[in-house]
Amino acid sequence: MKIYLDNAATTKMSKTAIDAMLPYLDTVYGNPSSLHSIGQDAAEALSQARHKIADCIGASPEEIIFTSGGSEADNQALISAARIGHKRGQRHIVSTAFEHHAVLHTLRKLEREGFEITLLDVHENGMVSPKQVSDAIREDTCLVSVMYANNEIGTIQPIEEIGRICRAKNVLFHTDAVQAAGHLPIHVKEQHIDMLSLSAHKFHGPKGIGVLYAKKGINITPVIEGGAQERGRRAGTENIPAIMGMAAALAEACAHMESHARQLCALRDRLITGLSQIPHGILNGDSQNRLPGNVHFCFEGIEGESLLLLLDDKGICASSGSACTSGSLDPSHVLLAIGRAHEIAHGSLRLTLSAENTEEQISYTIDAVKETVAYLRSISPIWRDLVEGKKEFLIQ
Ligand SMILES: *Cc1c(COP(=O)(O)O)cnc(C)c1O
Repeated sequence: MKIYLDNAATTKMSKTAIDAMLPYLDTVYGNPSSLHSIGQDAAEALSQARHKIADCIGASPEEIIFTSGGSEADNQALISAARIGHKRGQRHIVSTAFEHHAVLHTLRKLEREGFEITLLDVHENGMVSPKQVSDAIREDTCLVSVMYANNEIGTIQPIEEIGRICRAKNVLFHTDAVQAAGHLPIHVKEQHIDMLSLSAHKFHGPKGIGVLYAKKGINITPVIEGGAQERGRRAGTENIPAIMGMAAALAEACAHMESHARQLCALRDRLITGLSQIPHGILNGDSQNRLPGNVHFCFEGIEGESLLLLLDDKGICASSGSACTSGSLDPSHVLLAIGRAHEIAHGSLRLTLSAENTEEQISYTIDAVKETVAYLRSISPIWRDLVEGKKEFLIQ
């Protein structure tokens, strides 16, 4: 039996999402730009999906742009805001040190093009405060981009307040809501959000499809040139099956949001309590202000990679943090941003839950992690130095 605890990397598609896709892989195969009836059937489906997604986030259908996923949506939001800023002579952008690489690497590119980037420090509990944002905004700031929930440590940012500050100062506000969608309420109007990114495969929809929400009136720059799809904002024949799967998955996740959150929080807190018994370990991120299904620890004296491999042998699919950084030897930029030392950041474990996980799986996982950490420490020279007092423990 496999225990899947890596839902922040990707999720299993729901039956509802698969069923919603099937007709569009088979009978309704038209191109929505075609004027004949098979094309128009696809166009009708596309319109319904756009309405459904808009309803889930408090937007209007024409504010929904379909993209290839969260990364493309993040890229396009930042590039569009930079273009708008450039025209107004505003070349300063505010973001945070623990954004997803889809944001950070786009910012780095904009920096090379002459933009000035302020990356806000993240507090040790994984939070950025509205005051930090407010203090960082200048006359020449064109954009603030702060993620709704972090993909590694799961902390939830005060985006409504940040949105209010940006609106008052007349600065565009983008939020990467990829991890939040389906778990936390999203209402772009009430939360004063100008642009927002979604990715279907993080809420039990298909991979390779996402959304950029852009408030009416914001001039969105295409990053893919070609036909006039998406009102000229994103060229390419629409991926109708994936769009149908995404709309169904988002509606389903939003319909069950509260009950799933209760269920996941209970499992999450059991897991946190269990793993907190491991000595010289530390929970990363705020204990309460975090995604319902996110558990993230660092354990001193072990390598996260070894822990993952041994847990995999026990049937547990876990992660050391972001899927995008695994395989590289650099420690996670998120853990460094919250002030973890390099040697601590290497010993990380992220467990992210879905409503399919059970209490039995959680109990098994607690035992398995405890055993495996103890085993790895028993063969670790670093651990021996720590125990013998040749080195000081960094985590008490
Ligand atoms: C997964 C993820 C992305 C990237 O989404 P893709 O659809 O995989 O491109 C962006 N931001 C966050 C916070 C994510 O977790």
